[in-house]
Amino acid sequence: MPPKHVVVVGGSIAGLGVSLAMSSRGYRVTVLEADQTALPASHTEAFEKWDRRGSPQARHSHALLARLRNLIRDHAPDLLGKLTACGAEELHFIDRVKQLFDAPMLEEGDEDIVSLACRRVTFEWVLRRHVLDTGLVDFRDGVKATRLEASNDHASGVPLITGVWAKRAGGNEELVEGDLVVDASGRRSQLRKWLAEIGTPEVREASSPCGIFYTSRFYRLLDGVEPPALDGGIVGVDLGYLKVGVFAGDSRVFSITLAASPTDQEMRRVLKLPSFDAAVSAIPVTAKWTSPAVSQPASDIQRMANLNNTRRWLVEDGEPLAIGVVAVGDSLMHMNPIVGRGCSLAWTAAFALAECLDAHAEDPRALVLAYDERVRKDIVPWYEIQLTQDADSIEVAEAQQRGEDPFRTTNPDGSNNPKGFMRSLMKEGLMPALKEDLTMLRTFMRTMNLLDQPGDFLKNPSVMQSLLASYAMRDERKPTAESEGPTRDEMIGRLTNTA
Ligand SMILES: Cc1cc2nc3c(=O)[nH]c(=O)nc-3n(C[C@H](O)[C@H](O)[C@H](O)COP(=O)(O)OP(=O)(O)OC[C@H]3O[C@@H](n4cnc5c(N)ncnc54)[C@H](O)[C@@H]3O)c2cc1C
Repeated sequence: MPPKHVVVVGGSIAGLGVSLAMSSRGYRVTVLEADQTALPASHTEAFEKWDRRGSPQARHSHALLARLRNLIRDHAPDLLGKLTACGAEELHFIDRVKQLFDAPMLEEGDEDIVSLACRRVTFEWVLRRHVLDTGLVDFRDGVKATRLEASNDHASGVPLITGVWAKRAGGNEELVEGDLVVDASGRRSQLRKWLAEIGTPEVREASSPCGIFYTSRFYRLLDGVEPPALDGGIVGVDLGYLKVGVFAGDSRVFSITLAASPTDQEMRRVLKLPSFDAAVSAIPVTAKWTSPAVSQPASDIQRMANLNNTRRWLVEDGEPLAIGVVAVGDSLMHMNPIVGRGCSLAWTAAFALAECLDAHAEDPRALVLAYDERVRKDIVPWYEIQLTQDADSIEVAEAQQRGEDPFRTTNPDGSNNPKGFMRSLMKEGLMPALKEDLTMLRTFMRTMNLLDQPGDFLKNPSVMQSLLASYAMRDERKPTAESEGPTRDEMIGRLTNTA
C-alpha cells in the first residue's frame, strides 16, 4: 500500500515540525506555503532580508524552551548540530547552577533543562534547509491554500476532507489530494471559514486579550565583549506596568522585548524611538546589555498589538466536526507570547499527531479523536493557566494606571486581600528564592521550560514552604544596590523628557 499522503498548509515552525515528524516515519508530505520568498543563502542573510510576512512575529524575540530543544534532540539530533553550527547555543541549567551555588546537589533530569539561544529567523531558516535537504518533503512555496475538498463519510456522517485547493499568484486553483490535511497556517488561519463552506457546524473559537502590546529590538555584541550573565537564557523583569525580557540569540545577537498594557497611553511611547531606548536605559538589566560599550542595535523596533489568547475546537462533544483534517500550532491555539511557548507546543502537537497517525492510519475518525485527546492533555493546560495569569496581569496593570497598589495584602478596611497576597508572595518571595534555593530554581525552570505540568510548581509542598520562608524574610533582606527598575511615575518622567 502506498504511504499516506499528508498535505500541510503553512510551512513555518509548526508546518515544518509536522513535515519532519511525518516524513521521518515514511509518510509522503506536501507543504503548501503562501509566502513566495526563496530561502536565503544563509541564516545571516535571512535575518537581514528574508521576507516572512506570512509569519509577522518572525522578527520578534523568541525563547526556544527545553521542551522544543529536547524534541529536536530526540527526533532530529542532526538538526540540533546544524543549529549550533549556525551559532545557536544550548543553555544548560547545570552550568548556571554551578555558577550560582557552591557544590550544588544535582538531580537526574537536570541535564534535560536546556533551552536554545537562537533567533526565530535562524531557527526557521535552518529548519527549512534541513527539511529540504532530507529530500523527503515536497515543499511548494508561493502556493496559497484557498479551500477544502470534501466528500461525505458514510460511516461517521461528517465531511471527510480529501484535499486542499491551492493556487500560485496569477495561476489557477489546483486540487492537492491527500489522506490527511494539516492546517498549520498560523493565527490568521482560514480553517473555520473553509469548514463552514463545506457545511460543518461553526467551529467554536474563544479569544481573550493577553493584555499587552509587544516590542522587540535586536542588538549585536561588540567583538571581544563578554555578554552579561543570563539566567537560563532569558532575563525577565516584571515591573507590573512593563514586562521586560532580554533574550539570548545565536551568533552574538540578542534581543530586548518591552511589553505593556495597550490601554496604558503613557507606556505606548515605548513603541517608538527614542522612548524605547529611554526605557531600556532606565532599567538596570537592559541598560547593562545595551550599553554602547557592550552592544549596538542590529534592527529597528518591531511592534505587535492586538495579541490574544485564542483557542479553536474541531471536536465537539466527543465528535469531530470533520475528519481527514486537523490543526497544529497557532492555528489551533495561541497564547501570550511573553511566555515563549508557541514553538514548543507546535512541535509537541506535531509529534503527537505523527504518533496518532501511526496508530490510526486506516481510521480517520479515531485519528482526529486520538489527536484531540493528546492536545487536551499536553497543550490545553498551558493555555488555560495563561488565561488565568493574563486576567490577573490585566488587573495589576489597570490598578497601577489608577495609581493603586495591586500588591497590597490588606484591604482599606483591614481585611485580608488574598489576590494581593499571592501577587506579593510571587514578587517578594519567589524572585529572591530563585537565587537562593536550588530546589525552587529547578522546579521553576522545569515548569517554565514545559518539562512539568503547569501548576505542579505550586503543588510541590517543599516549594510552597520555601516560598513562604523566603517571603517571611522580605523585610530583612538588604536592599540591593540595583533595583529592578523605576516606578511607573519615574518611568513616565523619563519617557516624557525624551518625547
Ligand atoms: C510577538 C510574538 C512573540 C513570540 N515569542 C515566542 C517565543 O518566545 N517562543 C515561542 O516558542 N513562540 C513564540 N511565539 C509564537 C511562535 O512564533 C509561533 O507559535 C510559532 O512560530 C508557530 O507558528 P505557526 O507555524 O503555527 O504559524 P506561523 O509562524 O504564523 O506560520 C504560518 C504559516 O502559514 C502560512 N500560511 C498562512 N495562510 C496560508 C495559506 N492559506 N496557504 C498556505 N500557507 C499559508 C504563512 O505564510 C506562514 O508561513 C511568539 C509569537 C508572537 C506573536
